[in-house]
Amino acid sequence: MNISLVSTRDPKGKSVSYADVLLSGLAPDNGLYTPQTLPTVDTVKLKTMQKMSYIELFVAIKSLLIGDSISLDDQEKLAGAAFTQEKFPNVVDGNFMPVVEIEPGFYMQNLSLGPTAAFKDAALQPLGQDMNYVLNAQDKTLRLLGATSGDTGSAAEAAIKGLDRLKLFMLSPLEGMSDFQRAQMGILSGGNIYNLSVRGRFDDCQDMVKALNSDPEFADLGAVNSINWGRISSQVPYYFSGYFQVVGENIGNPVDFVVPTGNFGNILAAYFAKQMGLPIRKLIVATNENDVINRLIQTGVYTVKKAQVTSSPSMDISKASNYERLVYYLLGNDPVATANYMKKFETDGSVDFKDFGLSANALKENGFASGTSTHTDRIAMIRWAHETADLIIDPHTADAFKVAQQHREDGVPILSMATALPVKFEDTINEALGFIPEREARFVGLESETQKSFTIIDPDIDALKEFIRNEST
Ligand SMILES: *Cc1c(COP(=O)(O)O)cnc(C)c1O
Repeated sequence: MNISLVSTRDPKGKSVSYADVLLSGLAPDNGLYTPQTLPTVDTVKLKTMQKMSYIELFVAIKSLLIGDSISLDDQEKLAGAAFTQEKFPNVVDGNFMPVVEIEPGFYMQNLSLGPTAAFKDAALQPLGQDMNYVLNAQDKTLRLLGATSGDTGSAAEAAIKGLDRLKLFMLSPLEGMSDFQRAQMGILSGGNIYNLSVRGRFDDCQDMVKALNSDPEFADLGAVNSINWGRISSQVPYYFSGYFQVVGENIGNPVDFVVPTGNFGNILAAYFAKQMGLPIRKLIVATNENDVINRLIQTGVYTVKKAQVTSSPSMDISKASNYERLVYYLLGNDPVATANYMKKFETDGSVDFKDFGLSANALKENGFASGTSTHTDRIAMIRWAHETADLIIDPHTADAFKVAQQHREDGVPILSMATALPVKFEDTINEALGFIPEREARFVGLESETQKSFTIIDPDIDALKEFIRNEST
């Protein structure tokens, strides 16, 4: 149960408790908290885990990754509060992350059955519970500030809503989000959730968050962004669940995993599962036109690239924040080398493995593979899934399917992650299939409730400060 969480950039390797990591996000040296060494799970343990319900499995794996800041009994209660039938209405028999077979040997794991129809619920629901628990134990409260251009906003709000130790201020651009995404956030306004609509773009929202984070008056503001260890550690368990569902009794058989990737959070969780002993053969990264990580895997060079807007918008990134954790392990758990590598990237916009004693193929040697897709590919894959399996997939899942098709090999099952439900991207579905699928009851007419619940502000830091001060009493 003992695990040492350290900053990827701390030369002293000071161990920080999960409780502290959870509330602080980034380390003071700008590194990310990560386990100094990873726990392992042997075949005997895997066999006992296979019989567990998702919630039991979640606790069994996550407890190995967060240590004893929270007792096992309490971890079970928190997981039970995060994963409920009410929040995941279509879950059958407690299988919160179900696998379906598309064709022989070709599988999909649905990670998106939660309240906001994207896989981010799978990690943010438990993160909210953990934060509230730790704050309660310390008799503290916490204000959270975030910026969103889409999925993260509603998933974070759905996770924090009603938790009495937390207040969440979420900035989003007035223009640019889909009506559906705005509505998903809008219905959560009120109580401890504040939706602020900024007259500007997503970049303006991010700049406002950064400005407040470097202001001493707001030094205690927390974050729910994807670098939080509470999120990554909550994603590792579903890879175990997916593996068990694919192999059945044949524990030990290799499986390839395909993960549609933006900020490198979800694929990093898969890497951890592999390092912990799950028999994953290849970790296949799927990117869209924003192919920073694909180029890194193919060439060993990590170069920032201006993000372009695509039809799988949640993967539109210019760099991949969570990748730093992988760098730390590739460089032999060396915080000084990791800090140098990241500083080179931050200063020059580009960094090469070769300058750090690693081969250009270092990622391939560590089990990674990759591919990219275009809008045309996504449309084709949405059609293919519909024709082949009578299944409607979202554009991010379509990215994964495209890359999975490129990497399929006889004899090794391949499992693609489905990271959102198609209801979030009806325009693209309509373009591919010529119709908009009927919505589940819980999403019907959502957009009609949108406008009332946003406070519109200028991209003005003083206005934001004033708002937060007024709502903090
Ligand atoms: C956030 C998101 C991704 C990318 O996940 P990362 O952990 O950032 O790599 C992929 N698909 C969807 C639908 C998302 O919301």
